[in-house]
Amino acid sequence: MTEVIDGEAVAADVRSGVADCVATLADAGVKPGLATVLMSDDPASETYVSMKQRDCEEVGIESVHVEIDANAPAAELYKTIDDLNQREDVHGILVQLPVPDHVDKRGVLRRIDPEKDVDGFHPENVGRLVAGNARYKPCTPHGVQKLLDAYDVETEGADAVVVGRSDIVGKPMANLLIQKAPTGNATTTVCHSRTEDLDAKLADADIVVAAAGIPEFVDGSTLKSGATVIDVGINRVDADTEKGYELVGDVDYDSASEVAGAITPVPGGVGPMTRAMLLYNTVKAAARRHDVDIDLP
Ligand code: NDP
Repeated sequence: MTEVIDGEAVAADVRSGVADCVATLADAGVKPGLATVLMSDDPASETYVSMKQRDCEEVGIESVHVEIDANAPAAELYKTIDDLNQREDVHGILVQLPVPDHVDKRGVLRRIDPEKDVDGFHPENVGRLVAGNARYKPCTPHGVQKLLDAYDVETEGADAVVVGRSDIVGKPMANLLIQKAPTGNATTTVCHSRTEDLDAKLADADIVVAAAGIPEFVDGSTLKSGATVIDVGINRVDADTEKGYELVGDVDYDSASEVAGAITPVPGGVGPMTRAMLLYNTVKAAARRHDVDIDLP
């Protein structure tokens, strides 16, 4: 029987643990605050940001939101980040990506105070993650790591394949899997668009993390029997629904669930974990800033 990995349930546990941390911080007179910055007209980005604000409210994190016209000069975004870096009530800053083409994304990420970089994308935080001394783990791969842990998936000595090498998912995911640490110690192969014979790599994998951004790209026929399949993908495809589309992952769920030992659904798998881990990083940032001991979930 294939086990369906319930990201909603694990995320609810994380949120509950975060709410406890918020209470501990409140006892110490600290109210954690997350700033979201949106410089985009993209409806999906607007939705993501409003979901993050709702999540904050649910666990008692204060949220501050700044919207910048997508055509405004990059300097306006820089000034916003500089101001948020200075604010005592803001412990975490998230600039919703992608930013418009005329804005240098790397410059934006470098500008955020690394202590407030709850996405974990600042070069200093990337370096710390690679060195095995992470301050803030990027939310999506951290969420995957939590799912693997929650479902007792043995990573030590396992052959893992990460499909995708983006800075926000593939690379940090691989870095977490190879760490000499609990929920690490996997022998990890990172695949990308130039990989030759991806099927052969997948056929040997005990753990597959699919993050290619291609709908239903990984088919069950390529998987090893009993593999754990983590589907990071969120793709909108045309469908005869009220909205005119549906969300599908990077894995062909029907064929993969016939072969896999455990699998995440889309939606309801990695997505809720990404959101929960942002809250986790925000309370961690507040606790670090004010030197309060919290019991992170
Ligand atoms: P990117 O587009 O930045 O990266 C995609 C990666 O897939 C690239 O490294 C690319 O290779 C690789 N790739 C493309 N085609 C192939 C192929 N034929 N074979 C093997 N590898 C291939 O995407 P992201 O990492 O940002 O996101 C990946 C997916 O995850 C998307 O569906 C996104 O929506 C979703 N996502 C979901 C989140 C969640 O919370 N669940 C959070 C973030 C993203 P190359 O480098 O060579 O181009």
